[in-house]
Amino acid sequence: MAVTGTDIRVAKAFLMKGELVAIPTETVYGLAGNALNEQSVLSIFEVKNRPAFDPLIIHTDTISKIEQYVSEIPEKARTLASHFWPGPLTLLLPKKIIIPDLVTSGLDTVAVRIPKHPVALDLLSQLDFPLAAPSANPFGYISPTNATHVNAQLGDQISYILDGGECEVGIESTIIGFENNETIIYRLGGLEIDQIRDLIGEVSFMPHSSSDPKAPGMLKSHYAPRKPLYLEKRASISVFDPDQTGYLLFDTYLENVDKKYQRLLSPSGDLKEAAHNLFAYLRELDAMDVNFIKAERVPMSGLGLAINDRLQRAAATE
Ligand code: AMP
Ligand code: MG
Repeated sequence: MAVTGTDIRVAKAFLMKGELVAIPTETVYGLAGNALNEQSVLSIFEVKNRPAFDPLIIHTDTISKIEQYVSEIPEKARTLASHFWPGPLTLLLPKKIIIPDLVTSGLDTVAVRIPKHPVALDLLSQLDFPLAAPSANPFGYISPTNATHVNAQLGDQISYILDGGECEVGIESTIIGFENNETIIYRLGGLEIDQIRDLIGEVSFMPHSSSDPKAPGMLKSHYAPRKPLYLEKRASISVFDPDQTGYLLFDTYLENVDKKYQRLLSPSGDLKEAAHNLFAYLRELDAMDVNFIKAERVPMSGLGLAINDRLQRAAATE
């Protein structure tokens, strides 16, 4: 087990030595290392067992630091940044040579974000390098939203877990790129699309892909529990083998199933609360004495789009 603590100085000391530290953000916990140090970046891929074609997001605390790492910030990107940073928004921008190719999997854009978590921001403000920080879980598994989740899976492979409590948002950042005057959403996430549209107008979607290395985080199977997960509409959730199935539901219990096998994402029907609980409840169901997990789709508005996207990938088998 890794040492878990709240001492930013300890985290900083390990990071400056090139070692990895798990850090809290408002989206999910990150497995952080010095993004400018190739050895540190390599260890991130090794510890996560992450394929080298899946690029990393770099994190820092100010736009002026970001200007050291990217060659251009288009006007729409600046508008988005000034409204939503710090926050669950990642921008793909043309990288400067200082960013190792390992970080971007050879792409000429780098993903950057200023996270909205006081502990992360405090740490980042004390570093003169950005942190590469993918979610602190083995590749393909459910992302961690508290320090215990991180310790359970990566605890014996990292130096320190900086504990910042539970992640408020609970799902990963929304990823946006810019090509030929077009604004493209590459990953649905913690920032709602309508907020983006309200600010900069129409945006398009990059279609999901399981093999195109240009669209890595869009792998079809991701965020997955170990147990088979079936995603269904409420009306078609049939109760079979009640003792062998765990249920992930939106706001209402199933009547004919013991409540101990059911988790409600938000009893009041609040999609923000549902996002916040999503990964923790998936883990609880995965750890339960059941053979299958059935999940229902949540309403397709606001964060519901990102939640259903995660459930879809958690249900995919390849
Ligand atoms: P994670 O850090 O685990 O949330 O994953 C980061 C995701 O960001 C990757 O899986 C990619 O989908 C996406 N990403 C990072 N850098 C780029 C890039 N330069 N171009 C396209 N997508 C990227
Ligand atoms: Mg991840």
